[in-house]
Amino acid sequence: MYLPTIGLEIHIELNTKRKMFCSCLNDPDEKKPNKNVCPICLAHPGALPTINKKAVEETIKLGLALNGDIAKNSRFDRKSYFYPDLPKGYQISQYDLPLVSGGSLKGISLRRIHLEEDTARLAHAESSESYQLKVKSSLVDFNRAGVPLLELVTEPEIKNGEEAMAFAKELRLILRYLRISNADMEKGNMRIEANVSIAPCPRLSASNRSPRKSAVLGTKVEVKNINSFKAVGEAIEYELKRQEERLEKGEKIIPETRGWNEFKKQTESQRIKEEAHDYRYFPEPDLPNLNLTKSDLINIEDLKRHLPELPEHKRRRFAEEFNLSEKQSDVLINDPESARFFEEAVSELKSELPTSNVQLLFNYFTSDLFGLMKNENIGWDDLNITPENFADLIVLISNGDLTSRMAKDIIVEMQASGEDPRAIIKRMDMSQVSDEESVRVAVKESISENPKATGDYKKGNENSLKFLVGQTMKKLKGRGNPELIQQTLKQELA
Ligand code: ADP
Ligand code: ZN
Ligand code: MG
Repeated sequence: MYLPTIGLEIHIELNTKRKMFCSCLNDPDEKKPNKNVCPICLAHPGALPTINKKAVEETIKLGLALNGDIAKNSRFDRKSYFYPDLPKGYQISQYDLPLVSGGSLKGISLRRIHLEEDTARLAHAESSESYQLKVKSSLVDFNRAGVPLLELVTEPEIKNGEEAMAFAKELRLILRYLRISNADMEKGNMRIEANVSIAPCPRLSASNRSPRKSAVLGTKVEVKNINSFKAVGEAIEYELKRQEERLEKGEKIIPETRGWNEFKKQTESQRIKEEAHDYRYFPEPDLPNLNLTKSDLINIEDLKRHLPELPEHKRRRFAEEFNLSEKQSDVLINDPESARFFEEAVSELKSELPTSNVQLLFNYFTSDLFGLMKNENIGWDDLNITPENFADLIVLISNGDLTSRMAKDIIVEMQASGEDPRAIIKRMDMSQVSDEESVRVAVKESISENPKATGDYKKGNENSLKFLVGQTMKKLKGRGNPELIQQTLKQELA
Protein backbone atom coordinates (compact mmCIF):
# COMPACT_ATOMS: atom_id res chain seq x y z
CA MET A 1 0.00 0.00 0.00
CA TYR A 2 1.26 3.44 -0.92
CA LEU A 3 0.09 6.88 -0.01
CA PRO A 4 -0.07 9.11 -3.09
CA THR A 5 0.50 12.83 -2.55
CA ILE A 6 0.19 15.66 -5.01
CA GLY A 7 0.87 19.36 -4.71
CA LEU A 8 0.17 21.81 -7.52
CA GLU A 9 2.00 24.90 -8.66
CA ILE A 10 -0.21 26.90 -11.01
CA HIS A 11 0.80 29.93 -13.05
CA ILE A 12 -1.91 32.23 -14.34
CA GLU A 13 -1.56 35.14 -16.76
CA LEU A 14 -3.65 38.05 -15.52
CA ASN A 15 -5.73 39.95 -18.06
CA THR A 16 -4.74 43.48 -17.02
CA LYS A 17 -4.55 46.02 -19.81
CA ARG A 18 -0.82 46.60 -19.28
CA LYS A 19 2.23 44.60 -18.30
CA MET A 20 3.40 44.04 -14.73
CA PHE A 21 6.15 46.64 -14.47
CA CYS A 22 5.79 48.84 -17.57
CA SER A 23 3.00 50.40 -19.61
CA CYS A 24 3.28 48.07 -22.61
CA LEU A 25 0.07 46.37 -23.70
CA ASN A 26 -0.50 43.01 -22.05
CA ASP A 27 -1.32 40.87 -25.06
CA PRO A 28 0.58 37.56 -24.95
CA ASP A 29 -1.34 36.37 -28.04
CA GLU A 30 -0.02 39.20 -30.23
CA LYS A 31 1.19 37.54 -33.42
CA LYS A 32 3.66 40.18 -34.56
CA PRO A 33 6.86 39.45 -32.63
CA ASN A 34 8.25 42.16 -30.35
CA LYS A 35 5.38 44.58 -30.93
CA ASN A 36 4.59 45.35 -27.28
CA VAL A 37 8.01 46.08 -25.88
CA CYS A 38 9.85 48.97 -24.22
CA PRO A 39 13.20 49.57 -22.46
CA ILE A 40 11.75 48.22 -19.20
CA CYS A 41 10.53 44.83 -20.41
CA LEU A 42 13.60 44.54 -22.65
CA ALA A 43 15.83 45.23 -19.62
CA HIS A 44 17.78 48.11 -21.05
CA PRO A 45 20.31 49.44 -18.54
CA GLY A 46 18.87 52.07 -16.24
CA ALA A 47 15.21 51.36 -17.02
CA LEU A 48 13.08 51.35 -13.87
CA PRO A 49 10.01 49.21 -13.18
CA THR A 50 6.78 50.43 -11.60
CA ILE A 51 4.13 48.19 -10.03
CA ASN A 52 0.88 47.59 -11.92
CA LYS A 53 -1.75 48.36 -9.28
CA LYS A 54 -4.46 46.46 -11.13
CA ALA A 55 -2.41 43.26 -11.05
CA VAL A 56 -1.96 43.60 -7.28
CA GLU A 57 -5.71 44.13 -6.89
CA GLU A 58 -6.53 41.10 -9.01
CA THR A 59 -4.20 38.93 -6.95
CA ILE A 60 -5.83 40.19 -3.75
CA LYS A 61 -9.27 39.44 -5.21
CA LEU A 62 -8.30 35.84 -5.81
CA GLY A 63 -6.83 35.67 -2.31
CA LEU A 64 -10.10 36.95 -0.84
CA ALA A 65 -12.17 34.56 -2.95
CA LEU A 66 -10.11 31.63 -1.63
CA ASN A 67 -10.16 32.83 1.99
CA GLY A 68 -6.44 33.48 2.14
CA ASP A 69 -4.70 36.01 4.38
CA ILE A 70 -3.84 39.18 2.55
CA ALA A 71 -0.37 40.35 3.57
CA LYS A 72 -0.15 43.58 5.50
CA ASN A 73 3.39 43.88 4.24
CA SER A 74 4.43 42.46 0.94
CA ARG A 75 7.45 42.84 -1.27
CA PHE A 76 8.94 41.92 -4.62
CA ASP A 77 12.25 40.06 -4.83
CA ARG A 78 14.74 39.24 -7.51
CA LYS A 79 14.98 35.60 -8.46
CA SER A 80 18.22 35.08 -10.32
CA TYR A 81 18.57 32.65 -13.13
CA PHE A 82 20.15 32.85 -16.50
CA TYR A 83 18.18 31.94 -19.60
CA PRO A 84 17.54 33.79 -22.88
CA ASP A 85 13.81 34.21 -22.13
CA LEU A 86 14.68 36.43 -19.18
CA PRO A 87 16.45 39.59 -20.39
CA LYS A 88 17.37 40.97 -16.96
CA GLY A 89 19.07 37.78 -15.83
CA TYR A 90 16.57 37.68 -12.99
CA GLN A 91 12.81 37.55 -12.66
CA ILE A 92 10.95 39.96 -10.42
CA SER A 93 8.94 37.63 -8.21
CA GLN A 94 8.01 37.35 -4.55
CA TYR A 95 9.82 35.24 -1.99
CA ASP A 96 9.18 35.45 1.73
CA LEU A 97 6.45 38.09 1.70
CA PRO A 98 3.87 36.92 -0.86
CA LEU A 99 0.65 38.89 -1.32
CA VAL A 100 -1.50 36.00 -0.08
CA SER A 101 -0.81 33.19 2.40
CA GLY A 102 -3.06 30.25 3.20
CA GLY A 103 -6.64 29.83 2.05
CA SER A 104 -8.27 26.77 0.55
CA LEU A 105 -10.23 25.47 -2.41
CA LYS A 106 -12.29 22.29 -2.56
CA GLY A 107 -10.85 21.20 0.78
CA ILE A 108 -7.23 21.58 -0.38
CA SER A 109 -5.11 24.02 1.64
CA LEU A 110 -3.22 26.66 -0.24
CA ARG A 111 0.30 27.64 0.71
CA ARG A 112 0.58 30.99 -1.05
CA ILE A 113 -0.37 33.16 -3.98
CA HIS A 114 2.21 35.57 -5.29
CA LEU A 115 2.78 37.85 -8.23
CA GLU A 116 5.64 37.81 -10.72
CA GLU A 117 6.40 38.53 -14.37
CA ASP A 118 6.11 36.15 -17.31
CA THR A 119 9.08 35.35 -19.52
CA ALA A 120 9.67 35.96 -23.23
CA ARG A 121 8.81 33.28 -25.75
CA LEU A 122 11.54 31.36 -27.51
CA ALA A 123 11.26 29.93 -31.02
CA HIS A 124 13.88 27.43 -31.93
CA ALA A 125 14.54 27.35 -35.63
CA GLU A 126 16.96 26.09 -38.21
CA SER A 127 18.70 29.22 -39.47
CA SER A 128 17.91 30.50 -42.95
CA GLU A 129 20.31 31.19 -45.84
CA SER A 130 20.96 34.68 -44.57
CA TYR A 131 23.39 33.09 -42.15
CA GLN A 132 26.84 32.08 -43.26
CA LEU A 133 26.70 28.84 -41.34
CA LYS A 134 23.81 26.52 -41.03
CA VAL A 135 23.44 26.43 -37.27
CA LYS A 136 20.50 26.06 -34.96
CA SER A 137 19.25 29.47 -33.94
CA SER A 138 16.74 30.66 -31.37
CA LEU A 139 14.50 33.67 -31.78
CA VAL A 140 13.13 35.63 -28.85
CA ASP A 141 9.71 37.30 -28.84
CA PHE A 142 9.32 39.69 -25.90
CA ASN A 143 5.58 40.35 -26.24
CA ARG A 144 4.99 38.04 -23.29
CA ALA A 145 7.97 39.27 -21.26
CA GLY A 146 6.68 41.15 -18.24
CA VAL A 147 3.07 39.99 -18.48
CA PRO A 148 1.60 39.81 -14.94
CA LEU A 149 1.82 36.23 -13.77
CA LEU A 150 0.16 34.96 -10.65
CA GLU A 151 1.50 31.83 -9.00
CA LEU A 152 -0.64 29.72 -6.71
CA VAL A 153 0.95 26.91 -4.68
CA THR A 154 -1.07 24.25 -2.87
CA GLU A 155 -0.02 22.17 0.11
CA PRO A 156 0.70 18.53 -0.73
CA GLU A 157 -2.81 17.33 0.09
CA ILE A 158 -4.24 16.11 -3.21
CA LYS A 159 -4.79 12.36 -3.43
CA ASN A 160 -5.16 11.55 -7.11
CA GLY A 161 -5.36 12.85 -10.65
CA GLU A 162 -9.09 13.31 -10.62
CA GLU A 163 -8.99 15.45 -7.50
CA ALA A 164 -6.22 17.57 -9.02
CA MET A 165 -8.27 18.03 -12.18
CA ALA A 166 -11.37 19.04 -10.22
CA PHE A 167 -9.29 21.53 -8.24
CA ALA A 168 -7.86 23.07 -11.39
CA LYS A 169 -11.25 23.30 -13.11
CA GLU A 170 -12.85 25.04 -10.14
CA LEU A 171 -9.91 27.45 -9.98
CA ARG A 172 -10.36 28.26 -13.65
CA LEU A 173 -14.02 28.95 -13.06
CA ILE A 174 -13.28 31.27 -10.13
CA LEU A 175 -10.72 33.15 -12.23
CA ARG A 176 -13.36 33.63 -14.90
CA TYR A 177 -16.01 34.77 -12.44
CA LEU A 178 -13.52 37.24 -10.99
CA ARG A 179 -12.73 38.28 -14.57
CA ILE A 180 -9.02 38.35 -13.83
CA SER A 181 -7.86 35.77 -16.38
CA ASN A 182 -9.23 33.80 -19.29
CA ALA A 183 -7.44 30.85 -17.70
CA ASP A 184 -7.28 29.01 -20.99
CA MET A 185 -4.86 26.08 -20.59
CA GLU A 186 -4.59 25.47 -24.31
CA LYS A 187 -3.44 29.06 -24.81
CA GLY A 188 -1.03 28.94 -21.88
CA ASN A 189 -2.99 31.45 -19.78
CA MET A 190 -3.03 28.78 -17.09
CA ARG A 191 -0.06 26.43 -16.63
CA ILE A 192 -0.06 23.58 -14.18
CA GLU A 193 2.89 21.77 -12.67
CA ALA A 194 2.18 18.73 -10.56
CA ASN A 195 4.47 17.55 -7.77
CA VAL A 196 3.88 13.87 -7.33
CA SER A 197 5.11 11.42 -4.72
CA ILE A 198 4.16 8.19 -3.06
CA ALA A 199 5.16 6.93 0.36
CA PRO A 200 4.89 3.47 1.84
CA CYS A 201 1.67 3.67 3.79
CA PRO A 202 2.01 3.61 7.60
CA ARG A 203 -0.87 2.16 9.64
CA LEU A 204 -3.72 4.31 8.38
CA SER A 205 -5.92 4.33 11.44
CA ALA A 206 -9.42 5.65 11.20
CA SER A 207 -8.66 8.26 13.86
CA ASN A 208 -5.93 9.71 11.70
CA ARG A 209 -8.23 11.47 9.29
CA SER A 210 -5.62 13.55 7.61
CA PRO A 211 -2.62 11.28 7.14
CA ARG A 212 -1.01 13.52 4.56
CA LYS A 213 -0.33 16.18 7.12
CA SER A 214 1.44 13.92 9.56
CA ALA A 215 2.91 11.16 7.43
CA VAL A 216 6.41 11.35 6.05
CA LEU A 217 6.14 12.16 2.38
CA GLY A 218 7.97 10.35 -0.38
CA THR A 219 10.44 11.83 -2.85
CA LYS A 220 8.66 14.21 -5.17
CA VAL A 221 8.87 14.37 -8.92
CA GLU A 222 7.80 17.54 -10.70
CA VAL A 223 5.71 17.01 -13.83
CA LYS A 224 5.63 19.79 -16.44
CA ASN A 225 4.25 20.24 -19.99
CA ILE A 226 0.67 19.59 -18.91
CA ASN A 227 -1.39 21.29 -21.59
CA SER A 228 -5.02 20.46 -20.81
CA PHE A 229 -7.27 19.53 -17.90
CA LYS A 230 -7.47 16.00 -19.18
CA ALA A 231 -3.69 15.80 -19.17
CA VAL A 232 -3.62 16.90 -15.51
CA GLY A 233 -5.42 13.71 -14.55
CA GLU A 234 -3.59 11.47 -17.01
CA ALA A 235 -0.09 12.71 -16.19
CA ILE A 236 -0.60 12.34 -12.44
CA GLU A 237 -2.11 8.86 -12.73
CA TYR A 238 0.71 7.76 -15.02
CA GLU A 239 3.35 9.16 -12.69
CA LEU A 240 1.83 7.54 -9.59
CA LYS A 241 1.84 4.19 -11.32
CA ARG A 242 5.41 4.60 -12.56
CA GLN A 243 6.62 5.42 -9.05
CA GLU A 244 4.76 2.51 -7.54
CA GLU A 245 6.30 0.12 -10.06
CA ARG A 246 9.77 1.40 -9.21
CA LEU A 247 9.26 0.95 -5.48
CA GLU A 248 7.87 -2.53 -6.08
CA LYS A 249 11.09 -3.43 -7.91
CA GLY A 250 13.11 -2.09 -5.00
CA GLU A 251 14.25 0.96 -6.99
CA LYS A 252 14.47 4.48 -5.62
CA ILE A 253 12.50 7.47 -6.85
CA ILE A 254 14.87 9.97 -8.39
CA PRO A 255 14.05 13.59 -7.52
CA GLU A 256 13.70 15.08 -10.98
CA THR A 257 11.64 17.14 -13.38
CA ARG A 258 9.69 15.09 -15.89
CA GLY A 259 7.69 16.25 -18.91
CA TRP A 260 4.28 14.89 -19.95
CA ASN A 261 4.42 13.48 -23.46
CA GLU A 262 0.91 13.94 -24.81
CA PHE A 263 1.45 11.57 -27.74
CA LYS A 264 3.08 8.72 -25.89
CA LYS A 265 0.92 9.33 -22.80
CA GLN A 266 3.89 9.07 -20.48
CA THR A 267 6.19 11.25 -18.39
CA GLU A 268 9.81 11.52 -19.48
CA SER A 269 12.85 12.68 -17.55
CA GLN A 270 13.90 16.25 -18.37
CA ARG A 271 16.45 17.07 -15.74
CA ILE A 272 17.69 15.61 -12.50
CA LYS A 273 17.64 17.86 -9.47
CA GLU A 274 21.12 17.31 -8.11
CA GLU A 275 20.78 19.98 -5.48
CA ALA A 276 18.38 22.76 -4.64
CA HIS A 277 18.58 25.57 -7.17
CA ASP A 278 20.17 28.68 -5.72
CA TYR A 279 18.10 31.56 -6.99
CA ARG A 280 19.90 34.05 -4.74
CA TYR A 281 16.68 35.83 -3.86
CA PHE A 282 17.02 39.35 -2.51
CA PRO A 283 14.61 42.30 -2.19
CA GLU A 284 14.04 44.18 -5.43
CA PRO A 285 15.72 47.55 -4.73
CA ASP A 286 13.94 49.36 -7.56
CA LEU A 287 10.43 48.81 -6.16
CA PRO A 288 8.85 50.06 -2.94
CA ASN A 289 7.56 47.66 -0.30
CA LEU A 290 3.81 47.21 -0.35
CA ASN A 291 2.26 48.34 2.89
CA LEU A 292 -1.31 47.27 2.35
CA THR A 293 -2.68 48.35 5.72
CA LYS A 294 -1.84 51.98 5.20
CA SER A 295 -2.29 52.07 1.47
CA ASP A 296 -4.51 54.82 0.11
CA LEU A 297 -4.19 53.23 -3.29
CA ILE A 298 -5.60 49.81 -2.58
CA ASN A 299 -8.66 49.36 -0.40
CA ILE A 300 -8.98 45.72 0.56
CA GLU A 301 -12.38 46.15 2.20
CA ASP A 302 -13.64 47.69 -0.98
CA LEU A 303 -12.32 44.82 -3.08
CA LYS A 304 -14.02 42.40 -0.70
CA ARG A 305 -17.36 44.20 -0.98
CA HIS A 306 -17.24 44.06 -4.75
CA LEU A 307 -16.39 40.37 -5.11
CA PRO A 308 -18.92 38.68 -7.39
CA GLU A 309 -20.93 35.69 -6.28
CA LEU A 310 -18.59 32.71 -6.57
CA PRO A 311 -19.42 29.56 -8.55
CA GLU A 312 -19.87 27.25 -5.56
CA HIS A 313 -22.42 29.58 -3.98
CA LYS A 314 -24.20 30.19 -7.27
CA ARG A 315 -24.31 26.46 -7.96
CA ARG A 316 -26.16 25.79 -4.71
CA ARG A 317 -28.42 28.80 -5.05
CA PHE A 318 -29.46 27.91 -8.61
CA ALA A 319 -30.27 24.37 -7.56
CA GLU A 320 -32.39 25.58 -4.67
CA GLU A 321 -34.06 28.68 -6.06
CA PHE A 322 -34.79 27.35 -9.51
CA ASN A 323 -35.44 23.75 -8.55
CA LEU A 324 -32.76 22.48 -10.90
CA SER A 325 -30.86 19.25 -10.44
CA GLU A 326 -27.20 19.63 -9.48
CA LYS A 327 -26.22 18.55 -12.96
CA GLN A 328 -28.48 21.13 -14.61
CA SER A 329 -27.17 23.81 -12.29
CA ASP A 330 -23.61 22.84 -13.21
CA VAL A 331 -24.28 23.27 -16.93
CA LEU A 332 -25.23 26.89 -16.29
CA ILE A 333 -22.55 27.71 -13.72
CA ASN A 334 -19.68 26.34 -15.79
CA ASP A 335 -19.88 29.42 -17.97
CA PRO A 336 -20.36 32.77 -16.18
CA GLU A 337 -22.14 34.22 -19.21
CA SER A 338 -24.75 31.48 -19.41
CA ALA A 339 -25.36 31.76 -15.68
CA ARG A 340 -25.96 35.48 -16.08
CA PHE A 341 -28.23 35.09 -19.13
CA PHE A 342 -30.25 32.34 -17.51
CA GLU A 343 -30.76 34.21 -14.28
CA GLU A 344 -31.89 37.34 -16.09
CA ALA A 345 -34.29 35.33 -18.21
CA VAL A 346 -35.73 33.65 -15.11
CA SER A 347 -36.33 36.98 -13.45
CA GLU A 348 -38.31 38.05 -16.54
CA LEU A 349 -40.28 34.82 -16.41
CA LYS A 350 -41.21 35.14 -12.80
CA SER A 351 -43.51 38.10 -13.26
CA GLU A 352 -45.59 36.11 -15.69
CA LEU A 353 -45.31 32.48 -14.80
CA PRO A 354 -44.81 30.01 -12.00
CA THR A 355 -41.26 28.77 -11.53
CA SER A 356 -42.27 25.38 -12.90
CA ASN A 357 -41.65 26.94 -16.29
CA VAL A 358 -38.02 27.38 -15.38
CA GLN A 359 -37.56 23.80 -16.58
CA LEU A 360 -38.98 24.76 -19.95
CA LEU A 361 -36.60 27.71 -20.05
CA PHE A 362 -33.69 25.46 -19.10
CA ASN A 363 -34.54 22.99 -21.88
CA TYR A 364 -34.83 25.61 -24.62
CA PHE A 365 -31.78 27.42 -23.29
CA THR A 366 -29.45 24.43 -23.16
CA SER A 367 -30.65 22.64 -26.27
CA ASP A 368 -31.96 25.22 -28.73
CA LEU A 369 -30.04 28.36 -27.83
CA PHE A 370 -26.76 26.55 -27.05
CA GLY A 371 -27.25 24.53 -30.23
CA LEU A 372 -27.74 27.62 -32.36
CA MET A 373 -24.73 29.34 -30.79
CA LYS A 374 -22.55 26.31 -31.35
CA ASN A 375 -23.66 25.61 -34.92
CA GLU A 376 -23.38 29.20 -36.05
CA ASN A 377 -20.30 29.90 -33.94
CA ILE A 378 -22.02 32.73 -32.08
CA GLY A 379 -20.30 34.08 -28.96
CA TRP A 380 -22.12 35.80 -26.10
CA ASP A 381 -20.97 39.13 -27.47
CA ASP A 382 -22.58 38.40 -30.84
CA LEU A 383 -25.83 37.18 -29.39
CA ASN A 384 -28.78 39.31 -30.56
CA ILE A 385 -31.25 37.59 -28.29
CA THR A 386 -31.82 39.31 -24.98
CA PRO A 387 -32.77 37.37 -21.83
CA GLU A 388 -36.01 39.34 -21.84
CA ASN A 389 -36.96 38.28 -25.36
CA PHE A 390 -35.94 34.72 -24.68
CA ALA A 391 -38.14 34.61 -21.59
CA ASP A 392 -41.01 36.00 -23.65
CA LEU A 393 -40.56 33.18 -26.15
CA ILE A 394 -40.84 30.68 -23.31
CA VAL A 395 -44.06 32.37 -22.19
CA LEU A 396 -45.49 31.99 -25.69
CA ILE A 397 -44.55 28.32 -25.84
CA SER A 398 -45.94 27.63 -22.41
CA ASN A 399 -49.21 29.40 -23.27
CA GLY A 400 -49.62 27.14 -26.28
CA ASP A 401 -49.24 29.98 -28.75
CA LEU A 402 -46.26 28.30 -30.39
CA THR A 403 -45.33 24.73 -31.22
CA SER A 404 -41.79 23.63 -30.54
CA ARG A 405 -41.18 23.49 -34.30
CA MET A 406 -42.20 27.15 -34.64
CA ALA A 407 -40.17 28.09 -31.57
CA LYS A 408 -37.02 26.70 -33.18
CA ASP A 409 -37.59 28.80 -36.28
CA ILE A 410 -38.31 31.87 -34.22
CA ILE A 411 -35.09 31.52 -32.20
CA VAL A 412 -33.12 31.53 -35.45
CA GLU A 413 -35.07 34.59 -36.61
CA MET A 414 -34.57 36.35 -33.27
CA GLN A 415 -30.83 35.98 -33.66
CA ALA A 416 -30.92 37.14 -37.29
CA SER A 417 -33.09 40.23 -36.77
CA GLY A 418 -32.71 41.01 -33.08
CA GLU A 419 -36.48 41.42 -32.82
CA ASP A 420 -38.67 40.19 -30.00
CA PRO A 421 -40.63 37.01 -30.68
CA ARG A 422 -44.03 38.68 -30.86
CA ALA A 423 -42.85 41.03 -33.60
CA ILE A 424 -41.51 38.07 -35.57
CA ILE A 425 -44.72 36.09 -35.22
CA LYS A 426 -46.68 39.07 -36.47
CA ARG A 427 -44.33 39.85 -39.31
CA MET A 428 -44.11 36.26 -40.50
CA ASP A 429 -47.72 35.41 -39.78
CA MET A 430 -46.56 32.50 -37.72
CA SER A 431 -48.94 32.29 -34.85
CA GLN A 432 -50.27 28.86 -34.03
CA VAL A 433 -53.59 27.86 -35.50
CA SER A 434 -55.74 27.41 -32.46
CA ASP A 435 -59.14 28.37 -33.80
CA GLU A 436 -61.37 25.36 -33.72
CA GLU A 437 -62.98 25.91 -37.08
CA SER A 438 -59.76 25.84 -39.13
CA VAL A 439 -58.50 22.84 -37.19
CA ARG A 440 -61.80 20.96 -37.71
CA VAL A 441 -61.72 21.58 -41.46
CA ALA A 442 -58.17 20.19 -41.69
CA VAL A 443 -59.07 17.22 -39.50
CA LYS A 444 -62.06 16.30 -41.67
CA GLU A 445 -59.92 16.46 -44.81
CA SER A 446 -57.28 14.18 -43.26
CA ILE A 447 -59.91 11.65 -42.27
CA SER A 448 -61.49 11.48 -45.68
CA GLU A 449 -58.13 11.27 -47.44
CA ASN A 450 -56.86 8.45 -45.24
CA PRO A 451 -59.50 5.75 -44.95
CA LYS A 452 -56.97 3.03 -44.07
CA ALA A 453 -55.51 4.88 -41.11
CA THR A 454 -59.00 5.82 -40.00
CA GLY A 455 -60.07 2.20 -40.11
CA ASP A 456 -56.97 1.05 -38.25
CA TYR A 457 -57.57 3.58 -35.51
CA LYS A 458 -61.13 2.41 -35.10
CA LYS A 459 -59.76 -1.12 -34.67
CA GLY A 460 -57.63 0.18 -31.80
CA ASN A 461 -54.34 1.12 -33.45
CA GLU A 462 -53.09 4.19 -31.54
CA ASN A 463 -50.24 4.79 -34.00
CA SER A 464 -52.77 5.58 -36.68
CA LEU A 465 -53.97 8.50 -34.60
CA LYS A 466 -50.41 9.87 -34.53
CA PHE A 467 -50.29 9.50 -38.28
CA LEU A 468 -53.53 11.44 -38.68
CA VAL A 469 -52.25 14.19 -36.34
CA GLY A 470 -49.21 14.45 -38.60
CA GLN A 471 -51.34 14.67 -41.76
CA THR A 472 -53.48 17.40 -40.22
CA MET A 473 -50.42 19.31 -39.04
CA LYS A 474 -49.09 19.24 -42.60
CA LYS A 475 -52.27 20.83 -43.86
CA LEU A 476 -51.86 23.56 -41.25
CA LYS A 477 -48.24 24.09 -42.36
CA GLY A 478 -46.86 22.93 -39.00
CA ARG A 479 -48.67 25.63 -37.12
CA GLY A 480 -51.59 23.70 -35.72
CA ASN A 481 -52.06 23.37 -31.99
CA PRO A 482 -51.19 19.68 -31.49
CA GLU A 483 -53.49 19.15 -28.53
CA LEU A 484 -56.45 20.68 -30.30
CA ILE A 485 -55.80 18.56 -33.37
CA GLN A 486 -55.72 15.38 -31.35
CA GLN A 487 -58.84 16.29 -29.43
CA THR A 488 -60.76 17.17 -32.59
CA LEU A 489 -59.62 13.98 -34.33
CA LYS A 490 -60.90 11.89 -31.45
CA GLN A 491 -64.26 13.67 -31.58
CA GLU A 492 -64.59 13.20 -35.32
CA LEU A 493 -63.62 9.54 -35.15
CA ALA A 494 -65.78 8.66 -32.16
P1 ADP B 1 10.53 23.02 -3.70
O1 ADP B 1 11.28 23.74 -2.64
O2 ADP B 1 11.20 21.85 -4.26
O3 ADP B 1 9.98 23.95 -4.75
P2 ADP B 1 8.20 23.17 -2.12
O4 ADP B 1 8.23 22.72 -0.73
O5 ADP B 1 8.32 24.63 -2.40
O6 ADP B 1 9.27 22.39 -2.96
O7 ADP B 1 6.85 22.66 -2.76
C1 ADP B 1 6.52 22.88 -4.08
C2 ADP B 1 5.24 22.14 -4.37
O8 ADP B 1 5.46 20.75 -4.19
C3 ADP B 1 4.07 22.47 -3.47
O9 ADP B 1 2.90 22.50 -4.25
C4 ADP B 1 4.02 21.34 -2.49
O10 ADP B 1 2.70 21.11 -2.07
C5 ADP B 1 4.51 20.20 -3.30
N1 ADP B 1 5.20 19.16 -2.54
C6 ADP B 1 6.16 19.32 -1.61
N2 ADP B 1 6.58 18.13 -1.16
C7 ADP B 1 5.86 17.18 -1.83
C8 ADP B 1 5.84 15.75 -1.83
N3 ADP B 1 6.67 15.03 -1.06
N4 ADP B 1 4.98 15.14 -2.65
C9 ADP B 1 4.17 15.83 -3.45
N5 ADP B 1 4.14 17.16 -3.50
C10 ADP B 1 4.99 17.83 -2.70
ZN1 ZN C 1 7.39 47.22 -21.70
MG1 MG D 1 9.11 25.90 -4.65
